[in-house]
Amino acid sequence: MALTLEQLNGVSHEEAAEILDGLYEHSPWIAEATLAHRPFKSLPQIKHAMARVVAEAGREAQLALIRAHPELAGKAMVSKTLTAESTQEQSKAGLTDCTPQEFEKIQKLNADYNAKFGFPFILAVRGPRGTGLSKKEIIETFERRLDNPPDFEMAECLRNIHRIVEMRLNDKFGVEPTLGNLVWDWQEKLAQHSDPGYAEKGQLTVTYLTEAHRACAQRISHWMRDCGFDEVEIDAVGNVVGRYKAARPGAKTLMTGSHYDTVRNGGKYDGRLGIFTPMACVRELSRQGKRLPYDFEVIGFAEEEGQRYKATFLGSGALMGGFNPAWLDQKDADGVTMREAMQHAGLCIDDIPKLRRNAADYLGFVEVHIEQGPVLNEMDLPLGIVTSINGGVRYQCEIIGMASHAGTTPMDRRRDAACAVAELALFIEKRAAKDGDSVGTIGILNVPNGSINVVPGRCQFTLDLRAPTDAQRDALVADVLAQLKAICERRGVRHTVEETMRAAAAPSAPGWQQRWEKAVDTLGVPLFRMPSGAGHDAMKLHEVMPQAMLFVRGLNSGISHNPLESTTSDDMQLAVEAFQLLLDNLSNENS
Ligand SMILES: [Zn+2]
Repeated sequence: MALTLEQLNGVSHEEAAEILDGLYEHSPWIAEATLAHRPFKSLPQIKHAMARVVAEAGREAQLALIRAHPELAGKAMVSKTLTAESTQEQSKAGLTDCTPQEFEKIQKLNADYNAKFGFPFILAVRGPRGTGLSKKEIIETFERRLDNPPDFEMAECLRNIHRIVEMRLNDKFGVEPTLGNLVWDWQEKLAQHSDPGYAEKGQLTVTYLTEAHRACAQRISHWMRDCGFDEVEIDAVGNVVGRYKAARPGAKTLMTGSHYDTVRNGGKYDGRLGIFTPMACVRELSRQGKRLPYDFEVIGFAEEEGQRYKATFLGSGALMGGFNPAWLDQKDADGVTMREAMQHAGLCIDDIPKLRRNAADYLGFVEVHIEQGPVLNEMDLPLGIVTSINGGVRYQCEIIGMASHAGTTPMDRRRDAACAVAELALFIEKRAAKDGDSVGTIGILNVPNGSINVVPGRCQFTLDLRAPTDAQRDALVADVLAQLKAICERRGVRHTVEETMRAAAAPSAPGWQQRWEKAVDTLGVPLFRMPSGAGHDAMKLHEVMPQAMLFVRGLNSGISHNPLESTTSDDMQLAVEAFQLLLDNLSNENS
């Protein structure tokens, strides 16, 4: 018999402690302290409360918690003295069934790891889908994490412990993230399509209108039909558009979606999570025979990343009338023009202007996206409320000094272009940090034709400056450019600055942000508001209609544009549930 929250909330402290026993390995104090926060309204609330108890317990208690865990495939497993929970988890991952070589490899890793960090390696071996990592994945993760700095690795162990607890708690309460698993499985299947040159290496790359890209559109459209969408089409730029019609004709439309193209060797969730999460909602609505009082339009945008052609946000931009006909003559690396690629895909180029949406027909736009950063992961929070998509400016710059002999030019008589850029880089680091949520990066720093024995005479570099509001960004830009001028004057060097990109910040519409907040709060997940450092399709829709985004935590420090990008099916389940609540609440407002 599975437990219920009512039982946990209703019984005595001792009985409740008994119920939560065994979640944290040999550490009953965590559940004990967490019970002070009863009554609980959801499992995510319990999980977060327990993580807070551990976070506030201090370093010694945290180390003791980590050391209370057995080594992977270690002595305790061999001598069969693991706890019941650990035995089940390690055997599910096949660790009780290692070849002698695998066993030897893991023992060596255990020894190296313990020597470096002084605690055992902790990994949630049931993995992000709960079905068990392969031994290959376990060994690769072990090897990768051996390189982490000690404090970071200790935090990573604690995060894995909380993930283990999350799954043990699900087991106790008989909860399975079935919709999260559905979303997970769609992403896994879609990731089977990858462009040539990457597919062979097991890497994911899907760029605009390649064979893999067109296959993705086909599969998304078929899955949309399976979900019960009333209309599904692939439009003139390759967007996959599904509509779930309102109970009555003539209603306004809520639009949502994200992109299905990827960067080169990217992750499986960037963009796609924002297509599949609302698809799972429609599937449930259709199964229950429910209609909303508004049309619901879910769009898989064909292009956002600007990889094959220099035409970022092509998919969502086309809906705003932002498709630039000059793009059609752009050539990819193989000399294929965009026009040829579109004709080959059977897209009707003449119909592109018809894609433009009339904003008056729309209630607004919402988008779910994986965070692509470390913030939620560090805070043990599954969901984040986006307050604004950062505005940004980019510059291509050069400092021109004087190339001279590295041996004979005294330090006080140099005009070193690279040192001037280095000084600016350190200024930007401090200046952006001062705002708290601004970011500034010199991503390229290049001494053309540099030599080991020549003082750099020229240094080319880029500036990327972003902030949640245009005013904050402009203040950052003004300070950085003033500092650049001052550095150059003091050092007797010249500089050039060319602006290459400028994007306005897209603050969330307050009403829509509040709808996400209400949904997340109902789930018992603590509210956390944050700006989006990365650009998203919602930025384009922002030009004509109110928008707000919801972020989902990424694993591995939220790494993205990287094959290590990951999130759990439990977090995806929460994203689906938050979306369902937003749709329900909106129905009540509009009925
Ligand atoms: Zn994205």
